[in-house]
Amino acid sequence: VQMTVKPLKIAVVPGDGIGIEVMPYGVRCLETVSKVFKIPIQFESFDFASCVFYQKHGDMLPPDWKETLMRFDAVYFGAVGMPDLVPDDITLWGSLLKFRREFDQYINLRPCRLMPGVPCPLAGRKAGDIDFWIVRENTEGEYSSIGGKIFEGTDRETVVQETIMTRTGVDRVLRYAFDLARSRPRKRLTSATKSNGISITMPYWDSRVNEMAKKYPDVNVDKYHIDILTAHFVQRPDIFDVVVGSNLFGDILSDLGPACTGTIGIAPSANINPDGQFPSLFEPVHGSAPDIAGKGIANPIGMIWAGQMMLHHFGYTEAADALLRAIENVLARSEVSIVTPDMGGQGSTKTLGEAVEREVMALS
Ligand code: ATP
Ligand code: MG
Repeated sequence: VQMTVKPLKIAVVPGDGIGIEVMPYGVRCLETVSKVFKIPIQFESFDFASCVFYQKHGDMLPPDWKETLMRFDAVYFGAVGMPDLVPDDITLWGSLLKFRREFDQYINLRPCRLMPGVPCPLAGRKAGDIDFWIVRENTEGEYSSIGGKIFEGTDRETVVQETIMTRTGVDRVLRYAFDLARSRPRKRLTSATKSNGISITMPYWDSRVNEMAKKYPDVNVDKYHIDILTAHFVQRPDIFDVVVGSNLFGDILSDLGPACTGTIGIAPSANINPDGQFPSLFEPVHGSAPDIAGKGIANPIGMIWAGQMMLHHFGYTEAADALLRAIENVLARSEVSIVTPDMGGQGSTKTLGEAVEREVMALS
């Protein structure tokens, strides 16, 4: 059977700082694994969404950025920010948050997975013990800008900020999380709530979870209040499979989760528009790390793993599994001359990035 497969079109946006340093290894690993698995993939690089671009043009993005990126299936993003040159709010609101909003990337997805060879800050845990996903609602909820101040500057000073939950907004993130849970062997979904304290929006969230659960009788559902849930992340991380939360709760959990499984340099993140109407964005969790930028010692695994999530998202499961295994094998060996200083090694971005690329080839 002859099939013509549309190539996967990736916009490469390295950004600033170590984003520029780790991106080449992300692209190389993707190119290599795509060659092995015969996945047609095309890359095109852009210099916008960076502070250097901002200094030249007075804006983080060119006027036609949206049409430009719409030609791609995904944005492969490094990191943005040079706080000494451009304030962080301009950087973020002018790039990443604009993408998230305009491309309706309503899912933020992060793996929380303890990899072999990576010291776990939680005592007594070994690779395989922790392996779950965190699904965060990315467009509404607590992060509304609706509210106000009255009696400013007086003793009666009062501030209010609203939380917005829409049925469409809640249901679509729950549907994604339930689908993800259904695709996993344990088929377990945990919902983050706080309906004993937040008395209108959180009970609503819970009621939508209950409603959605009826459509997924094969998925085991439970819910925890956010306070005890964070404690469980530390004390019983093995019980989780897929954890879903509102914008605020998801935000907190999606930093806590990766922090429980090792260095920030290895964790990936995805902002997804599941309908495919707009491009999704895949990036490492870390920022531009000005303190180590230019030294060639940034850990490239977060960038490479973000690329692995991209392959997985687009259904190239075999290639994604191979790339994940390559990352795991290299981390499991953790050779001092190969791994970067954040992992206790004496290697560089180059030695670690190339080791993963070599491992991909060795596996095939
Ligand atoms: P954000 O950009 O999200 O605000 P931040 O600027 O506070 O984040 P990062 O840029 O992620 O934080 O850096 C936090 C710390 O982690 C820094 O000390 C940085 O050097 C270190 N770090 C971040 N990413 C890496 C990496 N890939 N390899 C090694 N160290 C890293
Ligand atoms: Mg930063």
